[in-house]
Amino acid sequence: MPDQIKELFTARVLVIGTGAAGYNAAVHCSHFGLKPVIITNRRTYGTSRNTGSDKQTYYKTGLSAEGDSVRAMTQTLFSGGAVDGDLALCEAAHSLQEFFHLVSIGVRFPHNRWGEYPGYKTDHDPCGRASSTGPFTSKAMTECLEQEAGRLKIPVYEGIKPVKILSEKNTVYGLIVLKNHKLKIIYADYIIFATGGPAQIYDYTVYPRSQASASGVLAQAGLSFVNMGEWQYGIGSTVFRWNLSGSYQQIIPRYVSLDENGKEYEFLEEWFSPAEIGKAIFRKGYEWPFHPEKLCTGGSSLIDLAVYQERYLRGRRVFLDFTRNPSGIKSPLIKNIGTEAAAYLEKSGVNAPTPVQRLKQLNPQSYFLYLDHKIDLAKEYLAVDILPQHHNGGVKVDCWWQTEIKNLFCVGEAAGTHGVTRPGGAALNAGQTGGYRAALYIAGCGKTKKTGRCEISDIRMFNNSRRSYSGRHGSQKKEMQNMLTNLKKLASRHLVFIRSREGAQIVLDECRVCLRALSSYCPETDNYHTYFELSEVTALLRLFASSVLHYIRAGGKSRGSYLINAKKTGLNACKKTASDRRFHGKIQEVKICRQKIKTFFRPVRPVPKRNDWFEKVWHEYTGGEIFRQNRRAS
Ligand SMILES: Cc1cc2nc3c(=O)[nH]c(=O)nc-3n(C[C@H](O)[C@H](O)[C@H](O)COP(=O)(O)OP(=O)(O)OC[C@H]3O[C@@H](n4cnc5c(N)ncnc54)[C@H](O)[C@@H]3O)c2cc1C
Repeated sequence: MPDQIKELFTARVLVIGTGAAGYNAAVHCSHFGLKPVIITNRRTYGTSRNTGSDKQTYYKTGLSAEGDSVRAMTQTLFSGGAVDGDLALCEAAHSLQEFFHLVSIGVRFPHNRWGEYPGYKTDHDPCGRASSTGPFTSKAMTECLEQEAGRLKIPVYEGIKPVKILSEKNTVYGLIVLKNHKLKIIYADYIIFATGGPAQIYDYTVYPRSQASASGVLAQAGLSFVNMGEWQYGIGSTVFRWNLSGSYQQIIPRYVSLDENGKEYEFLEEWFSPAEIGKAIFRKGYEWPFHPEKLCTGGSSLIDLAVYQERYLRGRRVFLDFTRNPSGIKSPLIKNIGTEAAAYLEKSGVNAPTPVQRLKQLNPQSYFLYLDHKIDLAKEYLAVDILPQHHNGGVKVDCWWQTEIKNLFCVGEAAGTHGVTRPGGAALNAGQTGGYRAALYIAGCGKTKKTGRCEISDIRMFNNSRRSYSGRHGSQKKEMQNMLTNLKKLASRHLVFIRSREGAQIVLDECRVCLRALSSYCPETDNYHTYFELSEVTALLRLFASSVLHYIRAGGKSRGSYLINAKKTGLNACKKTASDRRFHGKIQEVKICRQKIKTFFRPVRPVPKRNDWFEKVWHEYTGGEIFRQNRRAS
């Protein structure tokens, strides 16, 4: 007999996720008097709370003596390519407000004696807009926002996973969720997804193990995704997952690989002359993500290719050794690493003879961080790989971070607001500005009609009345787990920074197999989790692989975070790869429409013209016209 799915509770505003973006959205909703409720799988899970780098970056409009402006920052964000101009403007315009909101609740961004906040230069940043609290900026943000949420008495319910969006007449009215292996309904007038980046599609990443995502639920609801193929990949440690950017490279460690017999290779010597090695490793610090433009002679992204060759073409393990200098660099090291690196180390008072000693001088926290995870960089090699770190694309949103379903919002890394490249730190800024704007819109748009209700049985939920599965139910779970593992492995092999038509097709074919299997399964309560994860990952990989195929078929070449067809041409030929900028004025959209995948390019929305005549803006703001303009535009 089909079971009726019971109601868990009703909320006016439901926020999903307890990362920096989710808490911030809820806090702003509460400031606007909206009484939000937060649900999450586990309060302490997710990327914001569990990740970082040597100096985790927050990007905002510059506050230094050189001066900056909202429009200048907009231009930087927009020039990342395949970025909607209105979103770039919103992220720039609210960046200082959100930065100071964080400062006001206790996030300790450093300022000088007189209160000036200095900036530093990060990747894809022309003018030093970055700030940081150290290795754990996003953790500090999350903890301060959590305290604020506690002070505002915002309820947080754990152990809940969304599995299906409920909407009527293209307006959201609730969610089906999984709680304690049971399906339940939560009714809500407004829902804000802040469930982070889709780490779950990969077998290995530098995302924390606790990050899953719920983007697959949004994909299955038929929402459009933008820039699905645009990511960031870079060097990270694998046992303890952490970004090896900034200080970890700037103190110039030694790259080594070991073959199956334990023979050691200083493989960068095949790629760089002794005079270039130190410069390239140093630059990797602030040019951390892989980028084809950084491949040309002596470029820092050649290091990613070199690591890839060792790991995947030669089957060796790759490590960073902090105990010795690269042997190709003559002594004294400081005189043989180029003027830029030498000046940086000298200015920072770093002059010790070994990399680990230099790391302790430059950024002691980044040494102790590994020690806290039982890895002593002074004694042992650090296993590394090229890993996915951030999804630049995501769910399509308008300038209030509202999705194509009315009253359903998506903020943080789950939302697709970045393009081919983004400045380091722009992800954390986008998460804050998006949450603020969603809250402002919900508060500004007044009351909605009463939420819809409908009776849903578990059988209708699975869309699966045929119950055609012929195997034993006990073996279903095992089969699904195997399929999931296989899919993730294929994604980690074919949908990373080296891509090809054939690779994308392999993933797509496997997705078809999974889809067929899913339609024959009739899950029982003990395997709901696996069933939903498999259907979410399948949906996301269909979108991702189809986007890659569509881009290559349209003639797209290497750009942003990936190389196309590098295996065919050979890695050496990639040294002169130019980044393909022909599609920078277009955004690739993809969605599931009646079980089929639809993919197309559309022009980017331009940066809105200036509208800063005070009297005009004043009337539009107080009369609520700023929200209505949005409805007309969409
Ligand atoms: C190693 C590393 C270094 C980085 N460095 C930087 C940097 O220097 N600067 C920068 O700007 N960005 C950086 N990023 C990216 C940035 O940290 C993330 O984009 C950001 O923290 C995401 O925040 P979020 O709130 O959107 O998602 P998250 O912090 O991931 O939060 C997601 C929340 O949703 C919950 N959740 C997820 N799935 C489900 C589900 N199915 N059901 C219920 N709940 C769910 C999670 O438990 C969590 O509470 C880095 C990322 C990594 C991995």
